[in-house]
Amino acid sequence: MVELEVDNLKVHFFTSTGTVRAVDGVSFSLKGKSLGIAGESGSGKTTLGLALMNLIPSPGRIVSGSISLDGNNILQFNEEKYRTEVRWRQISMIFQGAMNALNPVYTIGHQLMEPLKFHSELVGEKARKKAEDALREVGLDASMMQRYPHELSGGMKQRVVIAMALILRPKIVIADEPTTALDVIVQAQVINLLKRLERELGISIIMITHDLSVISELVDIVGIMYAGELVEIGPAEQIYNNPKHPYTQKLLNAVPRLHGKRTKLESIPGIPPDLKSPPPGCRFHPRCPYVMGICKVSTPPYFTFTDQKATCWLYKEKA
Ligand code: SF4
Repeated sequence: MVELEVDNLKVHFFTSTGTVRAVDGVSFSLKGKSLGIAGESGSGKTTLGLALMNLIPSPGRIVSGSISLDGNNILQFNEEKYRTEVRWRQISMIFQGAMNALNPVYTIGHQLMEPLKFHSELVGEKARKKAEDALREVGLDASMMQRYPHELSGGMKQRVVIAMALILRPKIVIADEPTTALDVIVQAQVINLLKRLERELGISIIMITHDLSVISELVDIVGIMYAGELVEIGPAEQIYNNPKHPYTQKLLNAVPRLHGKRTKLESIPGIPPDLKSPPPGCRFHPRCPYVMGICKVSTPPYFTFTDQKATCWLYKEKA
């Protein structure tokens, strides 16, 4: 059972118009559980996923913090060690938009065998057989090996991308918006597939999404990101039934609920801040209905409630 520990991770992008603090001091740990990271677009979710893969594109870089896998700080590995020992082997990623993740000029078989060629000893017939098995595992026929991406539906392409992410049996799979652009039926199929693979293969899934309802049944722990910070984290059931941070409460009020009282859906007023110059104090304060004087000047620390924690001054006395 792999143990992932992320401590005070900061990823900044150095642009000609200023420094974008995309991920700003994120910490969490995960052992044998699945994690859902939710938040609005631009909150830093995808950047966090790319940081775990050590794939931050220029002009960005990880400026501080650590990512430990079973006690080893993998950020200290050089690119060669990361590529051969960590990326795809221990942590893999289902990238956003399966349509763009596949190369249109290569067959599915060629693309599935590529990680085997670079990261394992398997070649030739053995690699082909492994790729066929990977396709079957995600519910596709081995005849897909000869097909090109344009011959597949969106759901089939998403399954191929999932097969690629799993082919080297990583311990952690990051799924970045794996159901975006799919219709609701296919969305449900993909979620059920991920659930089954998680159970059968014993992998930990880190699911990144803007839609809290997508992760409600898939993950054990939910983290909420706002403006580059992890503002709340805790067991999924507690986050859904008893959210502490006002931003989490607003996010939940913006998605329909199957259970409980029927309530009117809300939108969150205002827009997320510019991460080149985020507001001082609590970054959510310009949009928060409970804002107080302290919120505008002082960054709230985590206040802990058993195994759930939230960065909000409302809990200074109660926590
Ligand atoms: Fe709202 Fe203040 Fe809590 Fe921020 S710290 S979420 S502004 S109450």
